[in-house]
Amino acid sequence: MQTLRMNSSLLNTFVEALKPLGTLMAPVERSPGVFSLEPIEEVSTARPDAVRTVLPFKKLLLKPSFCMLERRDGQNAQQSGDNDPGPVVFFGAHACDIHALKILDLLYLSDFVDPYYKRNREQLTVVGYGCFPDEKCFCRSQGTANVDDGFDLFLTPLKNHFLVTIASARGDDIVRANQSLFEPSTRSDVQEYMARLKERERSFTLSMDVTDLPYVLELKRDDPVWEELGKKCLCCGSCSMVCPTCACFNVRDEIPEEGVARRMRTWDACLYREYALVAGGHNFRATRADRVKNRYYHKQEAFVREFGKPSCVGCGRCIENCPTGINVVEVFKTVRGEL
Ligand code: SF4
Ligand code: SF4
Repeated sequence: MQTLRMNSSLLNTFVEALKPLGTLMAPVERSPGVFSLEPIEEVSTARPDAVRTVLPFKKLLLKPSFCMLERRDGQNAQQSGDNDPGPVVFFGAHACDIHALKILDLLYLSDFVDPYYKRNREQLTVVGYGCFPDEKCFCRSQGTANVDDGFDLFLTPLKNHFLVTIASARGDDIVRANQSLFEPSTRSDVQEYMARLKERERSFTLSMDVTDLPYVLELKRDDPVWEELGKKCLCCGSCSMVCPTCACFNVRDEIPEEGVARRMRTWDACLYREYALVAGGHNFRATRADRVKNRYYHKQEAFVREFGKPSCVGCGRCIENCPTGINVVEVFKTVRGEL
């Protein structure tokens, strides 16, 4: 890892220099305070400082719905390129996004490699951007407020310039190809960075006690709190759709027109009633309480047992988008008997 500095006035030039690497995707303000991750032509429309986009970057790797195979009358089934956007540059990834990306890598690239994810992941350039939290961020509690790897370049904004951290060979290539933009970092940069770090730490207003959480959850498996939560949760799936680490999907066949058959892969959610419904009509998670509980147990208990860390990065998207105001931090406070 190497850190350089870049004058703030060069940001647009830097982002322009990323364009040849692929479709440039960045947060864009769609309506006041509402940000969407979109392809950008005009660099000035990018808002890497936005705290969070509605949908996270996972849509860059696996579209919400895409065609895997298509068969036309009289022909063999053909692989579809529907989920093949080609090389993509994600500009404006925050530390929690990068941790979420590493979690998706664990899921999709470990034991059973997902070829659709792998192809797009290999073509993804990740340029991070240092953020400040809002009142829904609790990444610090989840250990995801800062990041050392999993990106190519990371820009930390200071007063008049950026610290630019290089964490991959691809990041190094970008810097080498645009050497005039960068210079060595200085001692005063380090001081400024340390001051920023402290200020950022002080900015967190939301935190979650994760002490021994998997074990606490094990003990609270039959707690009435889950029934109560099931009465409030609509099982609408919004929290799963916006979650950067929720990765369930469904595969179904459809006939969009006479003589054409398609195999579609679509984002799914364990909160939906049909998710655990099996042939014969049995549903392994028949009640809303079962399903919402399952989501929390998967994130904070099962994933920890399997991969040694939770699969929640504290991004706050589920808090922001739940129509009934369910707040993951309050849920776990209730579980601990603190509310
Ligand atoms: S967004 Fe809220 S209501 Fe909808 S499934 Fe998630 S927790 Fe339940
Ligand atoms: S569970 Fe909520 S806070 Fe955690 S990563 Fe998913 S959307 Fe973000």
